[in-house]
Parts: sequence; structure tokens; C-alpha cells
Amino acid sequence: MTFDDFMQDAVKRDAADPLAWTRAMFRIPDHLVYLDGNSLGALPEAALSKMQDRMAREWGRDLIASWNTAQWFTKPMTVGDRIARLIGAAPGQVAVTDSTSINLFKVLYAALSLRPGRRKIVSEDGNFPSDLYMAQGMRQMFPDLEIVQAKTPSQIEQALDGDTAVLTLTEVDFRTGRLHDMRSLTDKAHAAGALVIWDLAHSAGAIPVDLDGCNVDFAVGCTYKYLNAGPGGPAFLYVAERHQEAASQPLTGWIGHADPFAMSSAYVPATGIRKFLTGTPSILAFAPLEASLDIWEKADMATVRAKSLALADLFIAMVDALPKSYGLSLASPREGAHRGSQVSFRHPHAYRIMKALIADGVIGDFRAPDITRFGLTPLTLRYADIVEAVRRFDAIMREDRWRAFPDERGSAVT
Ligand SMILES: *Cc1c(COP(=O)(O)O)cnc(C)c1O
Repeated sequence: MTFDDFMQDAVKRDAADPLAWTRAMFRIPDHLVYLDGNSLGALPEAALSKMQDRMAREWGRDLIASWNTAQWFTKPMTVGDRIARLIGAAPGQVAVTDSTSINLFKVLYAALSLRPGRRKIVSEDGNFPSDLYMAQGMRQMFPDLEIVQAKTPSQIEQALDGDTAVLTLTEVDFRTGRLHDMRSLTDKAHAAGALVIWDLAHSAGAIPVDLDGCNVDFAVGCTYKYLNAGPGGPAFLYVAERHQEAASQPLTGWIGHADPFAMSSAYVPATGIRKFLTGTPSILAFAPLEASLDIWEKADMATVRAKSLALADLFIAMVDALPKSYGLSLASPREGAHRGSQVSFRHPHAYRIMKALIADGVIGDFRAPDITRFGLTPLTLRYADIVEAVRRFDAIMREDRWRAFPDERGSAVT
């Protein structure tokens, strides 16, 4: 098939796409093929008016009264319940607060404290660095802690034993998009008497998640990736209801107190998920997230997943059809059932190739050491975008255009 054939087919699929209406809800510059919604999701158009209202009316006019009249105080829980629906959690178990790293710190502490006498955290080497760093930081509070960074899925299972307090993994690998079997690994951890923490940074808004159904203990995740909450959008955490009474977290600030405005001098934790809050919620930063969730609530997750898989399969099929001499190899699982919502390709010059793609309006990420990564966000992408991306990818490889881009990996954000 030629690019023109692929494009004709893509245009037909876009016309029949049940999610075609969502793209116009977001701001996507015309000249870009934006394949980075897994790093920073696109701006929901309605976020602008939501923010204007929050600032001008709720803050500017109503000032401090808005903590009550605009329900600012309960936002972490009410917006948490809206995210809960996207990740298979019943109400009362998700709070929107802090960053993913800080939330991981809180739930790691909670899980370790619920398993006294066990010394091990099991994770994997390929986990997102911040997740490993936060686990390593726990050593300052639990001096005997051993952290197992497994190299393969079978090593993860082998490491689960009677000394394991916590299994903490990211469900979708940020480099390759490989999807763990949440249900099976959770069951195996439980069989060893351990608790599980799943990081849903590349799952929430990307794939269907069933936290309650899989009997998960704790989870954390981002809102600025697939959930389009904007840079620095507050993160979320999930604590299964059955743990909420016994679990404790060490960042015992006043917003997690049972009665913050009693201003008593002794900390008494709130009941329920509010116990996992610490300080004043970032109310302005909630506005884009709320605008985004208005859209997400109208998008059926099974439809989102079906389109995500179809976009990825098209991307992979088209790259497969490029000349082998380009030297690209698929880094993502070929089978959709084992893949999140991204496709990655390896190449020794991945960094320079991504620079060339970005210069040509195809926005993805380079991930060290040799990955070009493309996030697939079904609410903002068309099949035609995938064809256009691979068409430009082909031209860059065929003409060796990436050679014009030096390897300058020093830049702050890649
Ligand atoms: C993006 C990402 C994070 C980000 O953590 P922050 O504290 O929000 O910076 C954490 N974990 C994973 C797996 C991620 O992909």
C-alpha cells in the first residue's frame, strides 16, 4: 500500500469514528501531529473559561467565601470521585492532591507500616525513576529496608516472598508501553502476604483500569498526561476502603486532620480518604482538570481503548512496511493486549531522529538510551494523523535528515 492508499483508508475510518467529536474539544495547533499526550495532554478548550470563572468570580469576587460557596474545600475528594470512575474505583477511595511522587511516598509508607516485620519492597529496574527514587528514600524511615529491582517479569514473581511488604509497579512501562497483568500480579503479591501499589501514570485515561475488581490496595497517578489537566496538574492517589482505617501516612498536615479548623495542637487524622491530604489544595490547578473530566465522562473507556489499539496497530503496520535499512525496530509489544497507549521504536540515533521529527511537526519524545516514543491519545488523534506522522518519519529516514540535528542531550527536558 502507498501512503495515499493508507490516507484514503484513514480518512474513511475518521469519518466513522465514534470519538470524532472529541478532537474539537481540545486545542491542537493545525500544523502539528501531536503524539505527546502521554507526557503533556492537550489543552481542553473549556479549561480557559473554567479558569477565567475560577479566577474572576470564585477568587476575584467571592474571595475566601469560595472555600465553602464554590466547594473548594472538598475538591480533592469530589474530583477524586470523578477520576475514580475512570479507574474502576467506587467513590470515597480517590483523592486528588500533591504530585505523583509525593503520593507514592505517602502510600509506600502506609503499605510498609501495614506490614511490620517484612523488610522488602519489590519493584523493577525499568520502573519510572522517580518511583524507584521514592522507594530508595523510604530507607531513611525504614533502615532495614531492602529494595529489589527485578530485571524481568519472572524475577518480579520470584522476588515475592514472606519478607515482602510491598510490590510497587507502574502498570504501563514508560519506555516501551508494555502492559503488566495487574490482576495476576496483584493476586501473586497477595498470595505472598504483600500489599500492592500500582502507578497509573500511563494508564489513567489510556486504558480501562479495574482497581476494585483487581483487589488493588493502593494506586497513584498523574492528571497532566492522558487526563489533560495541564502542566503541574494535581496527581491522585487511591486507597482501598478496607485499608483506610488502619493505614496512616507521615505527612500529617492540617488538611488531613479530622477537624482542621478546630486548630487544636494535636494531630488527629481524618477518617476516610481525606486522611491522605496534607496541605491546602491547588484550587486553580483543578480548573483545567475539571474541564477535561467533563469531556472524559462522555467518552466510553472501551471505545477509547479500541481506538487506541487501532491507531497503534496502524502505526506499527506502516513502520513495518518501511525499508529495513532504516534500522528501526519495534520496542513495544506487538500484541495489543500487552501494550498501553503508545508505540516506541528503537534506533541508535533515536535522539537525533526525534529532533528531526519535532522540527517537522511530529511531536513525540526521546527516551534514553535509544527510544523514539509516540503517545496515542484517542480523544485528540485521527487515523489520518498517524498516516501523516509515518509519512514524515519515512522522509526523514530516507533522506537522512536527522543527521542535520546534533546530539545535544544536555537540554533540560527531552
Ligand atoms: C510521569 C510519571 C510520574 C511523574 O511524577 P511527578 O511526581 O508528577 O513528577 C511518576 N510516575 C510515572 C510512572 C510517570 O510516568
